[in-house]
Amino acid sequence: MPNRKKKKPNLSNTLINPIHQSVAYYFNDTNEVIQYQNNKYSLGRYGRYDNSSWLEVEQQLAALDDLEEALIFPSGMSAITSVFLTFLKSGDKIIYAKECYRNTKKLCETILAELNIEAIPISIKNTDKFNETFDYYYDENVKLIFIESPSNPHLYMVDFERIKQKLNKNTLFVVDSTFATPINFKPKYWGADLVIHSCTKYLSGHADILAGSVSGSYYNISKVRDFRNMTGCIISSQSASLLSRSLATLKLRVDYLNTAGLNIAQFLENNPLVNKVFHTSLPSHPHYLLANKYLTGHGSVISFEMNLTKEMVSQFIDALKIPYMGSNFGSYYSMVEQCSLFTYYNLSTEEREAIGISDNLVRLSLGFEDINAIIDDIKGAFSLVEHYKI
Ligand code: PLP
Repeated sequence: MPNRKKKKPNLSNTLINPIHQSVAYYFNDTNEVIQYQNNKYSLGRYGRYDNSSWLEVEQQLAALDDLEEALIFPSGMSAITSVFLTFLKSGDKIIYAKECYRNTKKLCETILAELNIEAIPISIKNTDKFNETFDYYYDENVKLIFIESPSNPHLYMVDFERIKQKLNKNTLFVVDSTFATPINFKPKYWGADLVIHSCTKYLSGHADILAGSVSGSYYNISKVRDFRNMTGCIISSQSASLLSRSLATLKLRVDYLNTAGLNIAQFLENNPLVNKVFHTSLPSHPHYLLANKYLTGHGSVISFEMNLTKEMVSQFIDALKIPYMGSNFGSYYSMVEQCSLFTYYNLSTEEREAIGISDNLVRLSLGFEDINAIIDDIKGAFSLVEHYKI
């Protein structure tokens, strides 16, 4: 017969925390339950609310973002959705950066619209125009500002400080900082109330888990936690544990990728087959000064327009040997895509034009392969198409 009074075996000095699988928790006696109810003990209650593997990674994430608390989610999109649905109600307005991740945009255009939440997209491509349009639309009904910056795939930036100065205290400033990571940018110091990451990218870094996070003050995070407790958008303890493992090497990985990004961006900019390179390390990037103000590194995603037809750009990409063709970024494999044929394939030509996705635009996200080997690979592919330069 089991004896519930018998102590469970547990070695508490493991260097690496075990993966906590249990969804059930027990209490030693009724007094312990009462103490727990009065927040005297940090104990678990039920798997939708509590898991030690989450707690571990949430502490790491809060420390990285330099914010009081963090919550982990099963994907970046579930983190974004949870923040929107926690803080917005019918009749509210949200302003968001038009050049954001396409599913964030879709969420604003569909689900928020159906809930009678007016979502106002503003392009961040031209800073003066953004500021002017922002001032025009911002009023007391705007309850949330959502900025993804640097943006995908052009790495556009905003002037965070200016935005914060304009906001009244009832507007929440939310930053999707997936592209920058906490190593290259700390939105908290420029007024962000909540910081979101798709941890699927740089933070996990191994392309083996989907995860998202939200960091903020105790007060704001307690509201998001209530939403997560209700809706159950929780991550598995295995994924949380893998993320925790990855965060231990985040700085080393991002430092390497920053160097790789800088080197390859400079190499691309000096090639006649390349018309324009989008990487915030380059003075030619339209938001170079903003990037210098806010970022301490520029990451490993580089977009570039080629002096080639759509078909010849495809041939260039097909000739590359190192990067895999696909749309992920931030992991140890390099990935490459012809944007109009991959991520943005389902948009109409007009929709693509509106967000600057031309047929000759390539997005390269670097991994940990040798930088010179990547340069040689690109040179080889260039040599096959150079006669077709427009
Ligand atoms: N935010 C940004 C900037 C992204 O690029 C993505 C996905 O590519 C997301 C959010 C969504 O993250 P996930 O794929 O983890 O749901």
